[in-house]
Amino acid sequence: MVDRLENVEIRWYPKAKDILSKDGTNNPYDLAREEVRNEISGSNGDAFLAYAHFPMPDRHARQESTLEATARTIGLPLGKDVRPYLPLLPSDIQWASNFLSENNLKKDGYAVIAPLSWPNKMWGKSNFESLIDHLYQNFGLRTVVASYPAIGLFTNSGAVCAYDLSLGQLAGLLSLAGLYIGLDSGPSHMCAFFDVPMLVLYIEKKVIPFEVRTLSPHSLLVVESFFSSAPYPSIETVSDSVRFLLEMKSNKDEEIPECLACGRKMDHVVATDGVNIRLMCSCGLVYDRIIRKTESGKFRQIRNQGKENPTTQKPLNLKHPLQIEDVLENEEALKQENFVTLSLPLGHIDPKNSEITPGNFIWGFDSLIYWMGKRGYLPFESSWDQDKLLIKFSTSSYPEGDRLIFPWGKKKIVTSVSRYLHWYTFSRWSDPKILVGIVKSMTELNLSKKERFACSIDAFRTEPSLRSLRWIIKSLFRLD
Ligand SMILES: [Zn+2]
Repeated sequence: MVDRLENVEIRWYPKAKDILSKDGTNNPYDLAREEVRNEISGSNGDAFLAYAHFPMPDRHARQESTLEATARTIGLPLGKDVRPYLPLLPSDIQWASNFLSENNLKKDGYAVIAPLSWPNKMWGKSNFESLIDHLYQNFGLRTVVASYPAIGLFTNSGAVCAYDLSLGQLAGLLSLAGLYIGLDSGPSHMCAFFDVPMLVLYIEKKVIPFEVRTLSPHSLLVVESFFSSAPYPSIETVSDSVRFLLEMKSNKDEEIPECLACGRKMDHVVATDGVNIRLMCSCGLVYDRIIRKTESGKFRQIRNQGKENPTTQKPLNLKHPLQIEDVLENEEALKQENFVTLSLPLGHIDPKNSEITPGNFIWGFDSLIYWMGKRGYLPFESSWDQDKLLIKFSTSSYPEGDRLIFPWGKKKIVTSVSRYLHWYTFSRWSDPKILVGIVKSMTELNLSKKERFACSIDAFRTEPSLRSLRWIIKSLFRLD
């Protein structure tokens, strides 16, 4: 597709391994890198090669995708609502239209699935077969399977196999589809260019899904496997998510809701129960809602907690720690206070294993701090009170020597407010190994020794290991 852009030269490295290789892994950049180096060395000193570690240490805290983080690193402003671009040709549309009429399909009346990816990102052929049956029986949707012969034929009554497509042909089929379901792979990122409702299933638990998310306001990310001991998202969760997407599509006013805490889309699906869906923002705020519309034809509104009825507001009782619900219902009273203590129940931090109740929010440490931050409050102290976290907020800047303690999965991080705000505001995705990764990126980018040493201590305290100990030493002496 890039080949269709003017002033862009494409070089092809045929020896780079592809997705169908037996070892299932690749590094296609090695050959390219060597060639670029040779070219630079033969250029009489008027060309330079800048080779940097693009993963910025604060990319997780900003909940950036890799594409956004890379663009920020090289100073390319992409804006808030960044989308991919596909140079689609009229011949692509024509080919796709012909394909549809040959197979008795109609524009917007079929789904596309792309079931092939690296082995560690696959959902399994039989799961996709069940999904094809589900789409056909419950929604009358037939499915175009965009894939390669290596996956085998799909013979379900709703299925039409479209194998070995060119990228242009695939783009043509995606542009006319009514629904897309895929994996963490290329076709999903292509589909994000089109205004097609899409579901992307994240299987492996290694990479945080928001890092590789599809950049589309119409995509839902099924991340159930991250919050469950089961390896895959279940058929039921995927089917329920499809229903939710199609219900939204049938009502033009409905979109994926915005996060009450940070303003991003609540586009992660954590669980469903056949009637309700549990959505989550990358900041960790969880919100339950009904899958199907109510009789009035509307979904329950997200901002329904007290805002519509300001007359019920009472003065805040600041003698006791407040619950977030008190504050949500009483925003006006909050504005009068310079110091507030909030209590966050820790029994609710598992977003998968609690009953889904429409209209309910489950707040995490980060989402609470985003919400309070938007109202001018910074945390300056936190402590544990049995199964509750007590967080003190202030409207003035936080004092020196502050100490925050907050949950990081089943562990605790002890750090300062500034370090928390810079590096750690993604605790719902807690994986202690990422903490060492932050120190690694800081060291490679040569950030302040004091800061990377402090973060290496945070990483070691959270998960003492030989690896985290090594990075304390490396952060001091930069031994690679
Ligand atoms: Zn959020």
